[in-house]
Amino acid sequence: MKEKVMLTGVRPSGNLTLGNYLGAIKNFVDRQDAYNSYIFIADLHAITSPQNPQKLKEAVYNCVAMYLACGIYPSKTIVFKQSDVLEHGTLGFIMTFQTKMGELSRMTQFKYKSLAQSKAGVDTGLFVYPTLMVADILLYNTSIVPVGKDQQQHMELTRDLAERFNKRYGNTFLLPDVYIAPVGNKILNLQNPLEKMNKSDNGDNKGTIFLMDDVEIAKKKIMSAKTDSIARVHFDEENQPGISNLMSILSKITGESFESIENRYKGKGYGEFKREVAEVVGNLLKEIQARYEKFNDKKLLDKILYDGACKAQIVASETLKRATKALGLN
Ligand code: AMP
Repeated sequence: MKEKVMLTGVRPSGNLTLGNYLGAIKNFVDRQDAYNSYIFIADLHAITSPQNPQKLKEAVYNCVAMYLACGIYPSKTIVFKQSDVLEHGTLGFIMTFQTKMGELSRMTQFKYKSLAQSKAGVDTGLFVYPTLMVADILLYNTSIVPVGKDQQQHMELTRDLAERFNKRYGNTFLLPDVYIAPVGNKILNLQNPLEKMNKSDNGDNKGTIFLMDDVEIAKKKIMSAKTDSIARVHFDEENQPGISNLMSILSKITGESFESIENRYKGKGYGEFKREVAEVVGNLLKEIQARYEKFNDKKLLDKILYDGACKAQIVASETLKRATKALGLN
């Protein structure tokens, strides 16, 4: 019997990227046998910015089919949609009240994303969504959360708030550990390797590889990735961020160490190295896309989400009951 719980989630906004796969989903897939595993579609997080309802529905299906295509098995992992389990909203509301304004304003994601919104006014959702994330994690007595490096601060907030609640109201929540993999925890934009690879790549999407990209286009994106004039395949994030990013992508997919990659490419140019990365990424995309076609069936996806929500809700409602009892609300 697996005792420890692993959980992660992805917002269904835009297509999933190579960054999502390498930073979060792959780490989850590689461990789904060892844990009591939950993965959810974070559709409540998606509505923290305005969405087209029809497109959001489609994005949810797209995201579940993608999870399955990436290697998540509903027989091993509980796959569900966040909004189907109402406990997320209620516990999110409760956790917001355990939080200081200062804690939320210090979140780098908030600082960064609110800059883009500052002219039209910053959405409250952008400010408070980390407390919903806290609830997402605590509801399932989660031990480990595989996420990319951008989520580290939110994970620290989760531990802080769980600890604060436990101190104030008695032992209610398990404190989770964050799992940030040593390699591939921050895949960078191929055209601007000082920035994270994001779903919304301002402009022509040349810096972002989407898992559904045409394979030849994805390979071209790798071939035209920004590098440097040092002309040495070497892992040095500060001075060679572009090459280091491509090395992380290669290493995370194949498992080969940086040292071994460096040795193989001693005295060789970037062109040859990029061709190998392009080939490896192209093959990964081909595999994922072939499986995606198999799972892109709304009836099948609805059944998986329904079954998943029923199972998730049993655990979530127990945790919420514990929290409301501790608060004197029931
Ligand atoms: P999001 O797309 O913001 O919902 O992120 C979903 C998951 O993917 C989170 O665990 C992120 O940390 C992870 N992630 C997103 N972009 C990247 C990236 N460029 N590199 C590594 N992990 C990422």
